[in-house]
Amino acid sequence: MEFSEQGNLGACSYCDEEAFIYRRYSGERLCKSCFISKIEEKIHKTISKYDMMTPDDRIIVAVSGGKDSLTLLYNLMKIQEKTYNSKELIALSLNEGIKGYRDLTIEKAKKFCQRYSISHHIMDVRDYLDTTLDMIISRKQKERDNQNACNFCALIRRRLLNAGAKQLNGDILAMGHNLTDVAETFLMNIFFKRFHKIQNQYFFKTPSSQLENIYIKKIKPLFKIPENEIQLYSKLKDFDYYSQLCPYRKSDPIIRKRVLNIINDFKQSSPEIEFNLVNGFLELSELLYKQKEQKKINLCKKCGYPSGKQDICNFCSLKMEIKGSKEG
Ligand code: SF4
Ligand code: ZN
Ligand code: ZN
Repeated sequence: MEFSEQGNLGACSYCDEEAFIYRRYSGERLCKSCFISKIEEKIHKTISKYDMMTPDDRIIVAVSGGKDSLTLLYNLMKIQEKTYNSKELIALSLNEGIKGYRDLTIEKAKKFCQRYSISHHIMDVRDYLDTTLDMIISRKQKERDNQNACNFCALIRRRLLNAGAKQLNGDILAMGHNLTDVAETFLMNIFFKRFHKIQNQYFFKTPSSQLENIYIKKIKPLFKIPENEIQLYSKLKDFDYYSQLCPYRKSDPIIRKRVLNIINDFKQSSPEIEFNLVNGFLELSELLYKQKEQKKINLCKKCGYPSGKQDICNFCSLKMEIKGSKEG
């Protein structure tokens, strides 16, 4: 743990109250109320340091019903409340069809939005692909194609959340990725030498004229906060979030889990390791992005989204595959 929750930690570093956690990576001792303030301050500072949004932006928040997305939604709501003339905040959930999981997480998102009177839109993958993630995976398993559920899930989510946010006339799509998620993804991409992904994941791209009408601007205001602190914050704020892991994350022997174990192991002796990884990601992704030749991008002949070296993008290929499997 990069922080410990124990008794007898002495006084809070910021007030006279008794501390209840010790952040090993920074040496701070925090009482409950200063811990909450520090998390909220960090979100505000991240937003302003990276110029993530302005009061004129119509913000769509991707909300799954987990701790990260509810923390993000709550904090953006508070910021909007304090900002003169800011636009309405909209929550967007995507049901990609994971039985016994996604319905439950979306239910939590729905209740949260009702509690705070936030308008909430729910998209269903069946309306776009006429199938679910579970059905895609079960067909792949029958064909002995052992592709990971998360790859399809990421492809579907990337496309549909972008499309949904655009349909809602959003200027910005806010996502709840935390420091641990970013560190984990970066290390995984290093292990597998996926530098093109690191380049592509650069957070602060200036979209080319070709892409600016396709992709909505994405922001990740929680990317400087470790996952276990968001969990603690959500508990202290009494958020009713969905806390179970996705069944695919639990059952797949996915590499992510192993990478996370490595990071946690390192944290024992170097509590600041996640921060180093994320700072490394910011520097390397920027370098790679700025070095990239701004070539003309291939656009999919069917939907007009970028399609890499192919004529048809991966999303449309999946759509055609699904259609073919139903007809065949
Ligand atoms: Fe999707 Fe994988 Fe996350 Fe489950 S663990 S929601 S399949 S990306
Ligand atoms: Zn305090
Ligand atoms: Zn396409």
